Amino acid sequence: MPTLPPHSPDVINELHHDYMAHASNPLRSMYDKVIARQRIEREEAEFIYNSNDLLGIGILADTARRLATPVDRRNDVYWVHNYHINPTNICEANCTFCSFKKGPKSPKAYVMSVDDVINMVGNYPGKDTLSEFHIVSGLYKEQDLAYYEDLFKALTREFPHVHIKGMTAVEIAYMAELDGVPPEVVLKTLKDVGLRSLPGGGAEVFSERMRELVCVDKIPGEEWLRIHGLAHDMGLSSTATMLAGLGETNEERVDHMIRLREQQDKSGGFMTFIPLNCYYEGNRIDPSNALTGVENLKNFAVSRLVLDNFPHIKAFWVHIGEKISQVGLNFGVDDLDGTVVQEKIAHSAGTASSEHLTKDQLLNLIWKAGRIPIERDSLYGVKARYEPPADTRGYHEAHTFA
Ligand code: SF4
Repeated sequence: MPTLPPHSPDVINELHHDYMAHASNPLRSMYDKVIARQRIEREEAEFIYNSNDLLGIGILADTARRLATPVDRRNDVYWVHNYHINPTNICEANCTFCSFKKGPKSPKAYVMSVDDVINMVGNYPGKDTLSEFHIVSGLYKEQDLAYYEDLFKALTREFPHVHIKGMTAVEIAYMAELDGVPPEVVLKTLKDVGLRSLPGGGAEVFSERMRELVCVDKIPGEEWLRIHGLAHDMGLSSTATMLAGLGETNEERVDHMIRLREQQDKSGGFMTFIPLNCYYEGNRIDPSNALTGVENLKNFAVSRLVLDNFPHIKAFWVHIGEKISQVGLNFGVDDLDGTVVQEKIAHSAGTASSEHLTKDQLLNLIWKAGRIPIERDSLYGVKARYEPPADTRGYHEAHTFA
């Protein structure tokens, strides 16, 4: 019988502990730190990325997730009933990984008026139980701050029960530039008409080398972080992403996470980190950079370990795929995003996942992973808990000390 540390013995699997704490395990010192709730440093995170002990990495991340979660919520997996709105695909920028953007004269270009958006949502049969609008778009001068003020006012009037998560830091900076005002004015203006949180897009990879290669028109990483800090100071929450599969190194991924951790130490408003995958149809990124399943799982795990001040790690199944997202629940993930009606951006670039999972499909993914689906609101308030049906209850729980 191994000697277990005194911390939360209810979550420490005996075999896992034996394996991780063995003197010859190269991940042992990281495991000791996870158990002691100590910070994983840059070099250690790089070491974990470069390890081939995938199961050991999963144990590290799952232990970190459990220790960071109240005992009675450790089996919970969150999802949200949300609806993506992309008001235009016309964009002035030229990100090399983007397959969504179209020029204004393209036959595939579209622009939605405020009424178009309201009618589209109004026709959605599930609108009465929606929790969240996720609104991101191209950088298009006809859709400036005044447009979004009108849009948010109309959405708030027509669907007052739905939380508006909208506008990436890149879009906030763009609107600020169009109007000749600082980003805080844009944030305040939109907050006054219903904006409640910011999505995490536009972060891509903060590395200056990578931004120069793939999104030179976007604001630098430091400005992206500053705008999220401003939003946090105003009481707006936000999420953060990392777009992987662009040709970035493991060191650049870790650096991205460390910069986020530092910002979170300062402003504290990030709720969730979401690692995303690049797709390769209709853009200029070399498909040989595509992430494997193992790399996706490492992204989940390392982000859970480095981002010790982020409450949640999300697998956005539209990008990652339903199956790896489900497996990710053992690699630090505790959120599977949502039902995502009308996802256009990843599908423009060839993701093979479906555009929309029904509630039953999402529940089944979570139940079959041995976990409990929790329908949440945008700020992780619990809306409903779904106990597993009888035919999945016979699955064995992982053995833990009681
Ligand atoms: S990623 Fe966003 S900013 Fe870049 S080209 Fe596409 S729509 Fe424009």
